Amino acid sequence: MNDVYFACMQCLVYVDAGYRWAAFTLPDAGVQLESQIKADAVDAAHEYWNPPDDSNWLRDGIFPAVRKFLKSHGEHELFFGEHESFANPDSTDWFDWLEVSEDPNPSPRFFAETLGLVTWSSVRDWVKANRFPWWWSLPEYQDSARTRFEAIVRRRSQ
Ligand SMILES: [Zn+2]
Repeated sequence: MNDVYFACMQCLVYVDAGYRWAAFTLPDAGVQLESQIKADAVDAAHEYWNPPDDSNWLRDGIFPAVRKFLKSHGEHELFFGEHESFANPDSTDWFDWLEVSEDPNPSPRFFAETLGLVTWSSVRDWVKANRFPWWWSLPEYQDSARTRFEAIVRRRSQ
């Protein structure tokens, strides 16, 4: 258990909660792994928000995105746990999800909503210049991603 996330089950948005630090400190504050959680309990988790002094990766990388996530989705249905627990990794269902961490895994919604791209060729250019998502080299996955991306762009332009 390393990678744990906060996920909004209504908006299908998730954010990196802070690896082992989150997994070890949050359960003590009543934020249980692999279960639905309340934003208030996360807000009140004193140890979680006060890591050792050398934890800049938490203070500068993880916490700003988590705070923003809790502000936007605090009233929604939230889940805390591993990625596989809220989005099935063996299907393309997770293409419906958007990661809002500091360094998110690219998904169709990331290209359309976060980057504001409107054509698949601009997605291709971005991927070449930045990074290849794990699914990029799998033709059926890329087709599925493209279909979803183009549907989002169409919906957003209406
Ligand atoms: Zn939400």
